[in-house]
Amino acid sequence: MAGDRGGVRVATRTLDDEAVRDFESRLRGRLVRPSDADYDRVRAVWNGMIDKRPALVARCAGTADVIEAVRFARSEGVPVAVRGGGHNVAGGAVCDDGLVIDLSPMKGVRVDPDARTVWAQGGVTIGELDRETQAFGLAVPMGVVTETGVAGLTLGGGLGWLRRAYGASCDNLLSADVVTADGRLVTADATHEPDLLWALKGGGGDFGVVTAFDFRAHPVGPEVYFALVVHPGARAREALQDFREWAATAPDEISAFAILWHAPEIDEIPPEYHGTPIVVFVAMHCGPLARGEVELRPLREIGLPIADLSQPTPYLEAQRFFDEDYPPHVMRYYWKSRYLTGLSDEVIDVLVELNEASPSPHSTLDVWQLGGAFARPGATETAFGDRSAPFLLGIESNWENPADDEACLAWGRRAYTALEPFSTGGGYLNFPGMYEERDRMVRDAFGPNLTRLAELKRRYDPDGLFRHTHGIRPV
Ligand SMILES: Cc1cc2nc3c(=O)[nH]c(=O)nc-3n(C[C@H](O)[C@H](O)[C@H](O)COP(=O)(O)OP(=O)(O)OC[C@H]3O[C@@H](n4cnc5c(N)ncnc54)[C@H](O)[C@@H]3O)c2cc1C
Repeated sequence: MAGDRGGVRVATRTLDDEAVRDFESRLRGRLVRPSDADYDRVRAVWNGMIDKRPALVARCAGTADVIEAVRFARSEGVPVAVRGGGHNVAGGAVCDDGLVIDLSPMKGVRVDPDARTVWAQGGVTIGELDRETQAFGLAVPMGVVTETGVAGLTLGGGLGWLRRAYGASCDNLLSADVVTADGRLVTADATHEPDLLWALKGGGGDFGVVTAFDFRAHPVGPEVYFALVVHPGARAREALQDFREWAATAPDEISAFAILWHAPEIDEIPPEYHGTPIVVFVAMHCGPLARGEVELRPLREIGLPIADLSQPTPYLEAQRFFDEDYPPHVMRYYWKSRYLTGLSDEVIDVLVELNEASPSPHSTLDVWQLGGAFARPGATETAFGDRSAPFLLGIESNWENPADDEACLAWGRRAYTALEPFSTGGGYLNFPGMYEERDRMVRDAFGPNLTRLAELKRRYDPDGLFRHTHGIRPV
């Protein structure tokens, strides 16, 4: 709290206490101020690097609260950030001196098993969605860490274990309820506001607050075949070359990663490799178990692995496989990405060298196998843009100690620069670093779709109320 009259301080001025109290009285959820005991908990996001101090956090209980929050922000001229799961690496879910419209209390999920559709509110996480859908033997393509928010993930695209079988999360979005900048609730689907639905499929959160999503779901599980094979750094090049050949003809039911990392100290990896560079192949086959076992065998037969932990795995467990590597709040993260035109020997050399030079054992270089259903939509069919690259490289700089900030940020940036010659030019905007060179990154990612997005920005948010995702400007 600050200001002469005890009002809440926002970026531009001190808000009148009465206006804030009036806003608070209209909410079903809570309005959290800096003086509240849980303020620090409520403003914390997943990335420990982010330390933003909003003036107010509206913990929305439902769509009516979101409408009130948007109207309040507009009438009082308060900057806005929108929070789904709070996992945006750049901290887009919070802002300094503004209002956070926090949807994380909005946890409703309803599955229609006959229609194979799922309705989920804007604060639902992947794990919460999975639990409800798996009760009916269904799954919606989401990301690979279950604490991530469905909202930000889907609005940015959404890539996970089902990407090659059933596409990105946004490809499975049937409709969305959106509170637009003028405080109206609209439903965007194939017949109503179809342009808005198009924009929400990868265009980010710049067009309004999505209070609920309707997804198409698919029969998956309850068990899937999950492959996990570890190769030593000394044979990383050969392993990655073989991975490249294998990936070119793998069936669409398989989505795989090759991850360059340093071996964790776990019993399954021989102790002499602990802390040394490794390459890990991780893959899920989402079809019948027996076929999964057969079709993943060629991946497991590459080279001479030092560990092979592949086995039938409950889908819910496979979804959680990476969770413990990404603890919230405590770790520091800097993630960027590049779509690769291929996995040439030259690229492999660069990746191996970068992994060996990584200043943190937690950092990884993740080669995402693309293609399949993910690649089928044309470049202008969804806002997401071009999907023709065979691989996405996720550059994950992950570390614990603030004293290592400089070295770890520099490593992430060095990797980003080193891979530029091998990239299509674009990157995946859900891994945006700290949004440095935002305009260029957004232009490269959306390509010709940016013009249409800017026109839609003018239609739905001409004054730029929502600017904490990609900062698309209206034309
Ligand atoms: C540990 C971890 C694992 C990840 N794994 C994957 C993965 O496997 N696949 C993948 O594709 N991505 C992955 N990501 C990236 C992830 O998709 C993005 O970080 C995404 O932004 C997270 O969404 P969120 O709702 O949790 O984030 P938030 O930080 O809450 O929101 C992200 C952005 O979307 C906006 N937004 C959020 N909710 C709404 C809403 N309801 N309406 C309008 N705008 C909204 C916010 O303003 C913000 O700009 C991962 C991220 C993390 C941290």
